[in-house]
Amino acid sequence: MYAPEFQYYRAASVAEAAELLSKNPDAKILAGGHSLIPVLKLRLAAPSALIDIGRIEVLRGIECSSGTIRIGALTTHAELAASAELRARAQALAEAAGMIGDPAVRNRGTIGGNVAHADPASDLPQVLSCLGAEFLITGPQGERRLGASEFFEGLMSTALGEDEILTAIELPEAGAGEGSAYAKFAHPASRYAVIGAAAKVAANNGTCTAASVVLGGLCPAPVRAEAVERALVGRSLTDEAIGSASRATAESLDDDEVLGDVYASAGYRKAVAPVWVRRAVTAAASRSG
Ligand SMILES: Cc1cc2nc3c(=O)[nH]c(=O)nc-3n(C[C@H](O)[C@H](O)[C@H](O)COP(=O)(O)OP(=O)(O)OC[C@H]3O[C@@H](n4cnc5c(N)ncnc54)[C@H](O)[C@@H]3O)c2cc1C
Repeated sequence: MYAPEFQYYRAASVAEAAELLSKNPDAKILAGGHSLIPVLKLRLAAPSALIDIGRIEVLRGIECSSGTIRIGALTTHAELAASAELRARAQALAEAAGMIGDPAVRNRGTIGGNVAHADPASDLPQVLSCLGAEFLITGPQGERRLGASEFFEGLMSTALGEDEILTAIELPEAGAGEGSAYAKFAHPASRYAVIGAAAKVAANNGTCTAASVVLGGLCPAPVRAEAVERALVGRSLTDEAIGSASRATAESLDDDEVLGDVYASAGYRKAVAPVWVRRAVTAAASRSG
């Protein structure tokens, strides 16, 4: 199938991209094209114009300073996976990026495109939610910054306005005694997440002092597994305690929200989710000390 006809613009700067968006109200931003081009070819969208931001260099790259990691929206999954800084300071993010799709997808797909598309089977929304990321957005009203719970609104839906551009994502570096990990039940054909569990754990002498556990693939938007977090804090991070806490996963899943398809029913996903939570928490705990 061919994409419908559209005007193509290549923006040289964020300001030019913003101006082009304001002049073409139903235009779409084009980043890596690995979600948008299939959408066009399937005729699920027919924007009059595409605004290619792919050559705006300031939107690319990873910077760490004063305990904060800033990632440009155009940074590719392959760059995230290969970053020694992320592997040391935001392990779950580098790990998840390395599990996305295949090398072609990882070399073209971008972190900004991934989260703006907000596919429930993506990997990065739950990881960024788990790690406490903030999303930096530019639009006609100026700049704004949203936390993950405000940014991700639902099935393929975010708080980004049609005239806004996601420019960067910021997250705190892992501190002393903190570790994070991502465990994924990947669809065998696409590698998309049937279930993706992201965990961040802080520990002192083997006892959990803080925990963040977020699930993707199961529901329209990332879901915080609060009952698991509560069951971990104050406990010694033994296999038994992590296994017991993981069994509380279902308490955070609303039956009406859990997604199912021909590959994995909602009931099956809900039943096996604790296994992936246990794996993510176990790996995060092993990196915390
Ligand atoms: C075969 C295949 C397998 C895949 N497997 C996985 C997987 O296992 N896990 C996973 O997470 N993903 C997977 N993906 C999706 C992949 O990660 C995409 O690259 C990603 O979801 C979209 O990024 P992109 O840069 O290609 O964005 P594009 O396709 O260019 O854009 C996607 C959407 O985001 C908007 N957008 C892009 N950038 C911005 C921005 N800076 N500001 C505002 N809006 C923006 C676009 O307008 C569009 O609506 C797979 C894709 C394919 C084709």
